[in-house]
Amino acid sequence: MIETTLPEAAHISELRRQLRRFVNEKAPRDLRREWDKAHTFPRDVFRELTRMGVCGLTVPEAYGGLGQDIEAAVAVIEELSRAGPFLSGPYIHCAFYGGMNISENGSDEQKESLLPALARGDMFLAYGLSEPDVGGDLSSVRTRGRIEGDEIVINGSKRWCTGADWSDYIYCLINTAPDQPKRNALTFVLIPTRASGVSMTPIEHSNLRYTASCDVHFDDVRIPMSAIVGGPAMLNKGWSLLAGRALDVEKLEVAACTFGFAQAAVEEAWTYAQERVQFGKPIAGHQAVSHKLVTARTKLEACRHMLYHAARLAGAGSPCAIETSMAKLFIADVGVEIALACQQVMGAYALSDAYDMNRNVRDLLGMPIVGGSSDMQRNNLAGLWRLKG
Ligand SMILES: Cc1cc2nc3c(=O)[nH]c(=O)nc-3n(C[C@H](O)[C@H](O)[C@H](O)COP(=O)(O)OP(=O)(O)OC[C@H]3O[C@@H](n4cnc5c(N)ncnc54)[C@H](O)[C@@H]3O)c2cc1C
Repeated sequence: MIETTLPEAAHISELRRQLRRFVNEKAPRDLRREWDKAHTFPRDVFRELTRMGVCGLTVPEAYGGLGQDIEAAVAVIEELSRAGPFLSGPYIHCAFYGGMNISENGSDEQKESLLPALARGDMFLAYGLSEPDVGGDLSSVRTRGRIEGDEIVINGSKRWCTGADWSDYIYCLINTAPDQPKRNALTFVLIPTRASGVSMTPIEHSNLRYTASCDVHFDDVRIPMSAIVGGPAMLNKGWSLLAGRALDVEKLEVAACTFGFAQAAVEEAWTYAQERVQFGKPIAGHQAVSHKLVTARTKLEACRHMLYHAARLAGAGSPCAIETSMAKLFIADVGVEIALACQQVMGAYALSDAYDMNRNVRDLLGMPIVGGSSDMQRNNLAGLWRLKG
C-alpha cells in the first residue's frame, strides 16, 4: 500500500478506509480479469456500493444528496480505480455525468425529477459528445436538432458513447442552428436511450473495459423542448456548458481514474520486485529496478498533489480551470510514464493476464486521449495564459 503524508479531512480518510475494505472483498483479481474479458461491470456489487451513499457526494442535500463534496467524490474515484474501471466507471456515469452535470446545469424540473434517483445510484447518464468526424473539435458536431413546435427532432450519430446501452439518458451535444456561428448553434439535450429512433452498436476497444462503447444513431428521435439541459431558455447556448465548473470537475474525474490506475500499477510492481528473485536476490535489489520504482513513486506523489490541490479549489467553488487542466494534462501524461516503467519492472509477467499490470497499462495508455486529449489541455492552458505567437 502506497502511503502519503498529504493531509486530508478525517471523513475522507474514513471513506477511503471503508472503500478499500469493500473493494478488496468485492472486486478480487480473478473477478476483475473476468469483467475485463467480458467488457462488463458487476451490477450487484455496484448496487451494494451505492448503499454507502457515495453517489450523493455530487448532489445538493435538497435533492437527496449529501451536499457537494468534490474532494470526497474524487477520492471515491481514486479508491475504486485502484481495482480498475469496473466500479469507478459506472460511478462516474451516475455521480458525475449525472449528479454533477444536472446539479450544475439542469433546470429546476430536471433537478427535481433526476437528482434524487442519481443520488441513490439508481440512474446513469452516458456522454454523447464525440461523433465519427468529431473528436477534440466539439463545436463541429453534426448531429442535428430541428425545432418542430414544442419538440426537437434529432438526426445524426454519436461515436464512443460509453455505456449508452445501459444508461437511462444520453447527455448529448447537438447542433440546433446550422445557419448560426458554431458557438451560437449548440444545445445540450437529455435523450432517453429507449426513445423511438435510437439505435446502437457496440465498439470493441482495448481500454476501460467496464463496458463497450457504442456507436449511437438517431433517426427522427423526438424529445420535448423541456429535455434541453437547463430548460428551453438554454436552446443554442450549449457552448457555455462546455466551460464552467462541471467541465472543470470532469477533468478531475478523468485525472482521478488515472491516478487510481497508476497507483495500482506502482503497488503491484513494488510488491513484485521484492518477491521476484533473479541473479540471487530480489530484483528490487538491482539498482536499475529500484530506480524505476523510486522514480515512478515520486511521480505518483506529484500527481496526488496536483489532483487534490485542484479538487480542493473546485470543491471550494474557486476558479480552477487552470489547475484542473494542468492536473488532467500532467497526470495523464505522467501516468503513461509510470505504466511503462512498472511494466518493465514486471518483465514478461506484465504481459500476462495473471496480473493486473496488463490491464492497467492498457488503461493508462488511453488516458491522455479520453476526456479532452493532452494536446487539447495544452491548447486550453495556452489560451488561459494568453500565450500568443
Ligand atoms: C474507451 C473510450 C471511451 C470513450 N468514451 C466517450 C464517451 O463516453 N463520450 C464521448 O463523447 N467520447 C468518448 N470517447 C472519445 C474521446 O473523448 C475522444 O477520443 C477524444 O475526445 C479525442 O478525440 P479523437 O480520438 O477523435 O481525436 P482527434 O480529435 O481526431 O485528435 C487526434 C490527435 O490529434 C490531436 N489534435 C487534434 N486537434 C488538435 C489541435 N487543434 N491541436 C493539437 N493537437 C490536436 C489530438 O490531441 C490527438 O492526439 C471515448 C474514447 C475511448 C477510447
